[in-house]
Amino acid sequence: MKNSVFGRKSILAGLFALLLSPTVFGQALTYLHCGKVIDGSSEKVQTEMTIIVQDGRITSIQKGYLEVPQGATLIDHKNRTVLPGLMDMHVHMDHETSPDGYSKSFRWNDADYAFESVNYAKTTLMAGFTTVRDLGGTGVNIALRNAINRGTVIGPRIFTAGKAIAITGGHADPTNGWNQTLMGDPGPQEGVVNGTDDCRKAVRQRYKNGTDLIKITATGGVLSVAKDGTGPHFTEIEMGAIVETANDLGMRIAAHCHGAEGMKRAVRAGVTSIEHGTYMDEETMKLMIERGTWYVPTITAGRAVADSAKIMGYYPKVVVPKALKVGPQIQNTFGVAYKRGVKIAFGTDAGVFKHGLNALEFQYMVEAGMPAMETIRCATLYSAQLLGIEADYGTLETGKVADIIAVDGDPLQDVSVLMNVAFVMKDGVVYKG
Ligand SMILES: [Zn+2]
Repeated sequence: MKNSVFGRKSILAGLFALLLSPTVFGQALTYLHCGKVIDGSSEKVQTEMTIIVQDGRITSIQKGYLEVPQGATLIDHKNRTVLPGLMDMHVHMDHETSPDGYSKSFRWNDADYAFESVNYAKTTLMAGFTTVRDLGGTGVNIALRNAINRGTVIGPRIFTAGKAIAITGGHADPTNGWNQTLMGDPGPQEGVVNGTDDCRKAVRQRYKNGTDLIKITATGGVLSVAKDGTGPHFTEIEMGAIVETANDLGMRIAAHCHGAEGMKRAVRAGVTSIEHGTYMDEETMKLMIERGTWYVPTITAGRAVADSAKIMGYYPKVVVPKALKVGPQIQNTFGVAYKRGVKIAFGTDAGVFKHGLNALEFQYMVEAGMPAMETIRCATLYSAQLLGIEADYGTLETGKVADIIAVDGDPLQDVSVLMNVAFVMKDGVVYKG
């Protein structure tokens, strides 16, 4: 990352800054002079503001460019727009699309995924995303989260589902498409379940492994080596067992869904969010509004898989027709769901396309009819609400954790400026700019 303080050229300067900075002792006092502030909650843009950060939290936000006391650091964003750190509610932190992606499960060990995930994590943070919800991978994502929390790895704050839960042959059955010698009989440990006892065991195993939430694949999926991309994949009773067990253990549930029947079962069973929601019908939208279920659209993924499917040999043959058909529907569904009043949080499915391009989603959301300010709230306040962390994160307010980004230009005039984040602060520590 060329602008990073951790870049090769500035590594010595960075080390010096780290040694000299009072941040090390948790006492750093930082003043940010901000030309424009979008706080993540109010409709109004504030101009010429000072944000004061101490011990990783915002201690004050005041009108005007306040004089900086001796010993405090000044960060000049007078020509920039300052926003809360962005949040992506659907990423896969240990994976990134590639033409040889499908053979990796035969060639790669967890350590291989882990080393790659370090790069994806850094790329994501440098793109301005200070918090992500990781919706399933090999299992190294739990260790990645812990390494970031310890400060060993640079990356966003991660809330992870660990390995997703599917039915036998379902979207997250890790042995789909393997020959029968290799296939074996994966069970709850691997996230493959049949019947309510398996469902409960898989959830409890994830809790034991240290996941933050549960991800289920409630319908078929596009990129799995399976014919079905949309049909329902759990009985409502099975999903009920998952939701009840997860809630008992203090975990929320994200449900991957394309077809309407599986979506309705998931909403009635009480999941927290519907992912993709491709063929969401009016009845489902009504049900989601009634139940307060979140929608995480991932328009970027839909468009990206349709593009990749046009490249000969990129996906297995069984995936291509699904990617061409299902992918392009999501943007339209999102536009309708927004107009109907379904609660929407920001999510991209990064990993299905290249990490770091997460902000593309803003442009697609605006294209589909959502005002830019509302897209920003989806990626800040609403995402924090989806995670249940809005008391500490998601907006620029006194007392909240100092996750702050800045961009040149005005995202309300041109939302694509969010693709080039100039400054990233997480927990009061500057990582970029
Ligand atoms: Zn996904």
